[in-house]
Amino acid sequence: MAYGIDTQVVVVGAGPVGLMLAGELRLGGADVIVLERLTSPTTESRASTLHARTMEIFDCRGLLERIRTPPNEQRGHFGGIPLDLTLPGPYPGQWKVPQTRTEEVLQEWALSLGADVRRGHEVRGLSVRPDHVEIEALGPGGPVRLRSLCVVGCDGENSAVRRLAGVDFPGEDAARELIRADVAGIDIPDRRFERLENGLAIAARRSDGVTRVMVHEFGWAPRPRTGAPEFDEIVAAWRRVTGEDISGGTPLWVNAFGDAHGQLTSYRHGRVLFAGDAAHRQMPIGGQALNLGLQDAVNLGWKLAVQVSRRGSDSLLDSYHAERHPVGVRVLANIRAQATLLLGGPEAEPMRAVLAEVATTGDGRAHLAGMISGLDVRYAMGDGLDDGGAGHPLLGLRLPPTRLSTDEGETSTAELLRRGRALLLNLSGSGGDASAGGRFDGLRRAAGPWADRVTTLAAKAPDDSPLADVGAVLVRPDGHIAWTGHDTEGLTTALERWLGLVRPRPAPRRTDHRNTTKWRYDMGKLTGKTALVTGSSRGMGRATAIRLAREGALVAVHYTANKEAADEVVATIEKDGGSAFAVCAELGVPGDVHELFLGLERGLKERTGSTELNILVNNAGVMGGVSVEETSPESFDRLFAVNAKAPFFIIQRALKNIPSGGRVINISSGLTRFANPDEIAYAMTKGAVEQLALHFAKLLGPRNITINSVAPGITRNGSPVFDIPEAVEQMAGLSAFNRVGEPEDVADVVAFLAGDEARWITGSFVDATGGTLLG
Ligand code: NAP
Repeated sequence: MAYGIDTQVVVVGAGPVGLMLAGELRLGGADVIVLERLTSPTTESRASTLHARTMEIFDCRGLLERIRTPPNEQRGHFGGIPLDLTLPGPYPGQWKVPQTRTEEVLQEWALSLGADVRRGHEVRGLSVRPDHVEIEALGPGGPVRLRSLCVVGCDGENSAVRRLAGVDFPGEDAARELIRADVAGIDIPDRRFERLENGLAIAARRSDGVTRVMVHEFGWAPRPRTGAPEFDEIVAAWRRVTGEDISGGTPLWVNAFGDAHGQLTSYRHGRVLFAGDAAHRQMPIGGQALNLGLQDAVNLGWKLAVQVSRRGSDSLLDSYHAERHPVGVRVLANIRAQATLLLGGPEAEPMRAVLAEVATTGDGRAHLAGMISGLDVRYAMGDGLDDGGAGHPLLGLRLPPTRLSTDEGETSTAELLRRGRALLLNLSGSGGDASAGGRFDGLRRAAGPWADRVTTLAAKAPDDSPLADVGAVLVRPDGHIAWTGHDTEGLTTALERWLGLVRPRPAPRRTDHRNTTKWRYDMGKLTGKTALVTGSSRGMGRATAIRLAREGALVAVHYTANKEAADEVVATIEKDGGSAFAVCAELGVPGDVHELFLGLERGLKERTGSTELNILVNNAGVMGGVSVEETSPESFDRLFAVNAKAPFFIIQRALKNIPSGGRVINISSGLTRFANPDEIAYAMTKGAVEQLALHFAKLLGPRNITINSVAPGITRNGSPVFDIPEAVEQMAGLSAFNRVGEPEDVADVVAFLAGDEARWITGSFVDATGGTLLG
């Protein structure tokens, strides 16, 4: 991240769209802060319908388990005309999930991915500069100023971002409205879009006994409203339209919504972007508005993440507007058509009769269902990208959800997309066809430079799936097919276009004199990275912290007892022009990891605006030096608690913070391969530590995180034994270089593994014993 920038992206609005976007940005490796005016999530019921495409997307992000199985209805409507929404796919129909639950699930997810959601922050100011955006907000503790590379307004139809950015929102005010209320304590018949003489009435009793009523009186123009309607108003309208009296009920929530509509001319204004209702305003019929917004977020998140990593091609971010604006135009048109059918008086009847027929014919029904469900969205993938499969019927559509068999067992398209990475799939299904396999090897090699962003896999789809035998396909992180074919040049062009350049573009060199504790913008190989080195108040940890800071990393210097020593390390780093802060936590005791991360995240956030951790060095350890006879169960447990258990749980917790490209380095010991009867228990702990690298490497590879063990030999630390020349001479004799190790010898090895040059090394044991193990 560039110096002086608090976060790469600020999202304004923590509704479903803002939270979805935050999660998508994190999946793509971007830093995000979400600012939300409300201090706690909304309790209003608002939108409650998720359509088939949104359900598929939630499946692709592992969110369905959290939503569990909501009530589903295959029967939907088009402007109140019954419409069967069944279409090929795993989630046809409408799924009833209260917006409060959707928000809760999305927030949990975004937070688990490391998004920084700040509630009670009202955005008051926005200035767009040539290379960043400045956002002013009023937070619970007073004014807050944030600098980011981009800001995205997900703050609804009355968007503050739109107003502050001076962006025009063309559209029309409401000409008709529906008043609705959730009412407890009434017993009236359910009505499904009932058109009566004076108006339209809808009543639906929920399982909790609350009835949602909605009413529209034909020919009534809405009056300008400054707030929600009174309950009396809906009682009177309900009586006029249905003849029923609901005045004895208790209103839980009353509001009115009209057929006002509007859409931004452009969803992107340089560094300011818009998604959801901030970009388009429409009557909330059948939950399409929420689904449209969520799908905006899924289209934008990964593109913006590529862009802020300085790898994006020029047109990548513009493709957000190019793809989502026409989808918005089309959804707004269908919603307006539905509003006319639904709220029009007797003059709408002939049109309703015609549509009712269309809605029951095969193609007509499927067309309307495709439009409402979002399953028919197809993006233009650009000329020349689909050379091998020009005009392939699947190009631009979402990857049809299906089970797949691979060499490693069964999987599904949804599971493959969980990490938000692109997919290069060989779906030739050709079994023994060596030429297809050979061609795919060529494509696999062509995609090699993007290995941190693309999962490459050969798989077979069931014979009745649309994916059976389609050959090679490139699938974007949002699940849309970007390329099909067998030509490596075509694939490379598509990869560059959608996933960006292989290496970041050089950032403009700039200096900020305002705050010297911010990240420096010098040219160290770890500039912009953050690191935690446990046990870095002394010894090798100290040397490692200093070394990583010299390379430009912001380093958390961890200690437990020796605050003065830790402060001295921080001071040394800062004197050199680096950045560091101290974090205290005793390891090997209950609550240790929690305490460590409290301090770590606070320190990171203060300095970088984010809790992202790029490098974790598990260095803290206690030595043994105790004979077998003298080893007590208590001392044995303590050794394991500090040396083995703590690193495991630190890694487990750190994985919330470590993005793609992250590094974990565990300090082991040459004693795992050099016998010393006085160190059996200690060596056992280090043996356990080495297992971390082996097994975690497999787990973390797909996230593009490496993990390795570094094994020092006898290395000078503060121990008094190093003050005894005879002892030092004897210890030196164990090394091929006839000297004891210096902390810097090991720190250099750790720094190498932390850098980009070591990207291809994972799960390995690195002998840093100075040849002690040569025998
Ligand atoms: P050291 O000088 O003994 O320093 C130990 C560091 O760990 C200190 O920062 C200490 O913090 C911290 N620490 C110790 N126990 C802790 C606990 N329970 N909770 C939190 N922090 C704790 O270390 P070193 O000799 O450089 O060794 C570093 C690593 O290399 C260790 O894992 C060690 O096993 C391994 N190693 C060392 C050698 C060697 O010859 N030195 C050889 C092979 C492997 P305070 O300062 O606050 O006490």
